Parts: sequence; structure tokens; C-alpha cells
Amino acid sequence: MIRLRRPVPPSDFDALVQDAREKVRRTLDEAGELKEKDFPCNGWRRFKRAFEGPSTRDTKCMYCEGDPRACASLEMDHYRPKTALTELPPLAASVPRCVVAPADRGTAREVARPGYWWLAYTWENWVLTCERCNGHYKGNLFPCAGGTPRRVTQGCEARESPLLLNPFDDDPEEHLSFDDEGYILAKTTRGAETIRTCGLHRDVLQRARFFVAAHVGELIDAYGEAVTQRERDELLARIRALGASERPFAGMVRSIVWGYLGMPSDVHFFDVEPRVDVARSSVGGSQIP
Ligand SMILES: [Zn+2]
Repeated sequence: MIRLRRPVPPSDFDALVQDAREKVRRTLDEAGELKEKDFPCNGWRRFKRAFEGPSTRDTKCMYCEGDPRACASLEMDHYRPKTALTELPPLAASVPRCVVAPADRGTAREVARPGYWWLAYTWENWVLTCERCNGHYKGNLFPCAGGTPRRVTQGCEARESPLLLNPFDDDPEEHLSFDDEGYILAKTTRGAETIRTCGLHRDVLQRARFFVAAHVGELIDAYGEAVTQRERDELLARIRALGASERPFAGMVRSIVWGYLGMPSDVHFFDVEPRVDVARSSVGGSQIP
């Protein structure tokens, strides 16, 4: 996961979702409850393209950073679940924060219904994700400091401290890191909860990250052995390309590069339009000129 810039909603966004919002409110008033089918899904699907970025070729899941389109499409996740809230068993104190294995996840159980229904058609509550992260893992999970809320009311979100990272609002690099084989590690409690909420430690993802991690490792080794400045510049350009925002597993690439080359995380080395001058002037140590 990397920090992303939230796309700008269309100027008439509120008017475009007004009918859907009113339908949901009316159903809740009349029936006293909300089911998944009560939320018109075109109310968010119609805006998916805006979240896909300038080129669909570069689209990836905003949680796991995988590219699932060979066998599935991306979908809109409601960061705060709309229909219900579920919760995983507490992470055992004996589990080190940095090691969150699939077996540490446990089974989710429902603790509240409905969920944040009033945020179903809220631009800031949408994240573009793959079906595995959203449907199979996250679902209605929304861990918060102090536990998942047992009851939610309009406006309560302002007082919450979510443990699930939001790529638009948080800096995932502060909470997650990766080793040189692509295993994901938690630096904080929020990192650990995000890993198990979205299943970022799942085997299939780990295998996909391994090959990218190995490639990055080869480039870093070659950089260390490069003789000329031209060779080093070319290798840096290839490393930078692998960690560009639109590339799969860019967060992992950046984490591995910081680990080996000792670059401080506030350097904008991997920006879409890299500020090379800033990167070079800010680097400590001796490996990057
Ligand atoms: Zn995903």
C-alpha cells in the first residue's frame, strides 16, 4: 500500500447520488433495517473510472497493490462498511507486531447492524480494490482503537480512530515494511490490523511479490557493483520505474530500496515526476551520489 492522491469528484456529485441516498434513508425509515440489496450499486460503480487513474493499463488494487485484472475486475470498497460491522478476535499479545501470519486472523463475527449507511455514497469513503481484499477478506471489518463500534450513528466517524489504513488519508510507509523476499511486516498496531483485515499476508500475494522483490534485489546488487556513473544512473532509473505509484507492489519496492540504499522515507525519489535534485541532496550515507 502506498499513499495516493484522492481523485476529485465531479462538480455535480451530490446531485448524481441524491436519489440513491434518499432511497437508502427511506428504506431504513420504513423497514428499520438495511440489507445489501437496498443499496443501489450503480451509485458508486458509475464513478469507478475516476478512481482508476489516467490509464486503465496501470490500475491496481489500492490495498494489496496487486493487478487482478487478468482474472477479475476491480471494485469499489466502502472503507467504512455500509451494511454491517464485523470484528476479528483480538490479536494475541504473544504475536509480535511484525509477524502477522494468516493463522493469526481468526473468524469474523458481526457486532453491529446497520453500518455506516449514510456514507454509502460518499466520495471520501471509497477505495478501489480487488475482489480478494474486499470481498474475501475485509468485507464488513472496520477495526478501531478501543474495538469495533457496537453502534454507529451519523457523525460518530469524526470521533473514531480507525486501525485500518486508508491509502488516501494515511502514509502506509509509516506502518508497513517488507523484507527482501516480499514478506509484509507491521511496524505498528495499525499496520498489523491492516495486514490481517485485508489479508495482505496471503500466500498468493506473497508469491507474486516474491518475483518483484527478487528483481529489485538484482538491480540493487548491480547498482552496488556498478563502476561508472552512467551505469549507476541507468540502474537508479530502472529501480525508480519499478517503484512508481502506478506499478504493482510499489510500496514493497520502495521499502526494499530504503532498506538497502539507506534513503530517508521523506525523499521524493519515487514520485510520478521524481524530484531528483531533492533526492540527491537529501540522501545520507555514501551509496547514492
Ligand atoms: Zn487487493
